[in-house]
Amino acid sequence: MSNETQKEVELVSAEHPLIPVLALRGLVVFPGMSLQFDVARPKSILALKNSMDQEQKIFLVAQKDLTVNDPGKDDLYSIGVIAKVRQVIRRSDEGIRVIVEGISRGKIISMPEGNTEYLSAEVAILPTKVTKKVTPRQEAQMRYVRTQFEEYIRNYTQISPDLVIGVLEKKNCGDLADYIAANINFDYEQKQQLLEELSPFSRLQKLSRILKDEIRVLTLENKIQEKAKEQIDENQRDYYLREQMRAIADELGEDDTPAEEADQMRKRIQEAGMPKEQQEKLLKECDRMAKMPEGSHEASVILSYLDTCLSLPWNSSSKEHIDLSKAKKIMDRDHYGLTKVKERILESLAVKKLNPKMQGQIICLVGPPGVGKTSIAHSIAEAIGRKYIRVSLGGVRDESDIMGHRKTYIGSMPGRIINAIRQAGVNNPLLLLDEIDKLGNDFRGDPSSALLEVLDPDQNSTFYDHYIDLPFDLSHVLFLTTANDASAIPAPLYDRMDVITLGSYTHQEKFHIAGKHLIPKQLKKNGINSDQLKISASAIHAIIDGYTREAGVRGLERMISEICRKSAIKIVKNSKIVIHVTPKNLEEFLGPKKFREENQNKKDQVGLVNGLAWTTVGGEMLPIEVAVMDGSGKIELTGSLGDVMKESAKTAISCIRTRAKSLGIRTDFYSKYDIHIHAPEGAIPKDGPSAGAAMATAITSALTSIPIRHDVAMTGEITLLGRILPIGGLKEKTMAAYRAGIKTVLIPSENVPDLEEVDTEVKKSVQFLPVEEIDQVLNVALTKKPVPLQ
Ligand code: ADP
Repeated sequence: MSNETQKEVELVSAEHPLIPVLALRGLVVFPGMSLQFDVARPKSILALKNSMDQEQKIFLVAQKDLTVNDPGKDDLYSIGVIAKVRQVIRRSDEGIRVIVEGISRGKIISMPEGNTEYLSAEVAILPTKVTKKVTPRQEAQMRYVRTQFEEYIRNYTQISPDLVIGVLEKKNCGDLADYIAANINFDYEQKQQLLEELSPFSRLQKLSRILKDEIRVLTLENKIQEKAKEQIDENQRDYYLREQMRAIADELGEDDTPAEEADQMRKRIQEAGMPKEQQEKLLKECDRMAKMPEGSHEASVILSYLDTCLSLPWNSSSKEHIDLSKAKKIMDRDHYGLTKVKERILESLAVKKLNPKMQGQIICLVGPPGVGKTSIAHSIAEAIGRKYIRVSLGGVRDESDIMGHRKTYIGSMPGRIINAIRQAGVNNPLLLLDEIDKLGNDFRGDPSSALLEVLDPDQNSTFYDHYIDLPFDLSHVLFLTTANDASAIPAPLYDRMDVITLGSYTHQEKFHIAGKHLIPKQLKKNGINSDQLKISASAIHAIIDGYTREAGVRGLERMISEICRKSAIKIVKNSKIVIHVTPKNLEEFLGPKKFREENQNKKDQVGLVNGLAWTTVGGEMLPIEVAVMDGSGKIELTGSLGDVMKESAKTAISCIRTRAKSLGIRTDFYSKYDIHIHAPEGAIPKDGPSAGAAMATAITSALTSIPIRHDVAMTGEITLLGRILPIGGLKEKTMAAYRAGIKTVLIPSENVPDLEEVDTEVKKSVQFLPVEEIDQVLNVALTKKPVPLQ
């Protein structure tokens, strides 16, 4: 190349072979490019001055080494740009600012040696090769470089996007390359290389390569920047949210940091009066919380845990005073009858008074619903000055219902026992565990064993709730339990119980309870004066018979409450009104009667017997029907009978077979007849062996066509040999018979001791006949003696 240029040498100026030279530090100027820069070195300022005398021409050339202060020929590149000085602006700090415009490439041919005033040189113009027509290859290269440049601008945001317009104006490779090279921001040595490349196409290619590298670096750089920015953004977001949270907390007046809250908690813990061990553990939790960042979820978990622990009555108890006569008074005030129950309770209280430390059995009140178990427990609490809290255990299947969930679970809570204690606010309440026989037991754990821990005096002084996670002393709590069915209480629990049975009420008892307790209570509840509403005695009887059929008095109370509500409307409309409720206008208040007279047969009938059943809601009449038809000895049993009852029916048939002759029944009846045994109200499941005697009687009646007395009822299990075995629930069963107006009840002899429990009122109006054999039963129940077969 140099040879070529040598040949075409054309000096810048014929008159002045030497033109001033400005050594540029880190700057390369291209032809066609205007540039403004400051000049400070005295030699350079002098060169500029001299250029003014030479048509403002000056040769701008880059210095190889930026650190050289007074460069000579060897310190400069040989190729630079011949430029015209457009403007010189003097600046106060002795420097000048110049605006120059590059005209064409030039090359230093010679330079005066030695210490000159300013740099000057003999410079040859390097002509630009201009091709007239742009070849497709050049065009392609140009287009490619243009897109590269656009991309470069996109990535390098510090240069103006307007420069793209200039790119479009450049119509040949050389100009385009120079324009872009002048306007992009890269290393001066690379720029120098582009300046020295005289072939326009090669220059463009070189530029393209540089751009490519540069773009790669830039995109990487941007990625790094973006990442850094994202991180900053995230930090900012966190910061912003935290600030917002604080603002919300401020608004709500919860502006304490965990550390501040921990301090407050520490104080409360020290004042709570809890045992040392528990106190230390909670203080440790405070320390843990204090170290947590504000707004942390864990801190709030600990806070609510501490709050719950502190809300426990560690040190507060109510003063118990056991005064037997006062206790009796309160129980009598609230409850009619229940003499035995009250006696038993007073006995327990007396023992407790004599020996407060003795951990006696736990009282369990067993009886059908609505007989006053819960309400008598309430009275006991009042009588001895303890807080009353009821925990319903019906349907509790999960151990953690009793013992709580560990606090690490989301939404965990203490169990029902600890919750009840919190609610009580004292550590010695009377805690009624209601419906202990309804505890479930499945894969989720055994709540009854958890309950054992609660009730066992050896264990309950250090009761561990999973949530509280600290021992809490339950030994001062007075536990009372209730159940409908004692046999359904889990055996280990039952062992610890002192069972007190509350039986069904007689009609008379219900009548008295209604008059003395339920009506005054409901009147008061509904804000009605006893002068405004009067319920006649016969109306109460009518309600008991026609609208309720229950062992307790809950339904009765509901009916009375309904009468009060209906009356309230009338009283509001007319405050002077006096309402009399009588059997005649009862339907106005309660609608049509729900129950007719006990659906007891009024007539002696063949194949129909009055059995007696016992359920957890009390005793009931259980009529049994038997029909005998010509057939082939099929036995049909209907009416939702359980397995035991079915077996009992078959036993009864076999028993009759063994004594068919003496009963006047043809001995082949079992193969000539079909026997159908049915217990009406077929949808209600029935089971148990106690209807055996009744079924045998009905079968005999059906086979002999001798009617059964309608005013006789019976209960008793039957054996193959016709013995009558004892049954359970005698009290409830006889009560049902009494309600139904039965005159005679046949009971197994072995049940005679149980008659003691039967209500005197029942005993007064019902005759009890103890039986040992089925023959005795048939003797009484059948209206006629069967004639034995010859
Ligand atoms: P339980 O707990 O046995 O199911 P409750 O104690 O809830 O029954 O009693 C139901 C309602 O009947 C309560 O309002 C209660 O006061 C009342 N009650 C039950 N028995 C008597 C009674 N002997 N004397 C007065 N009220 C009674």
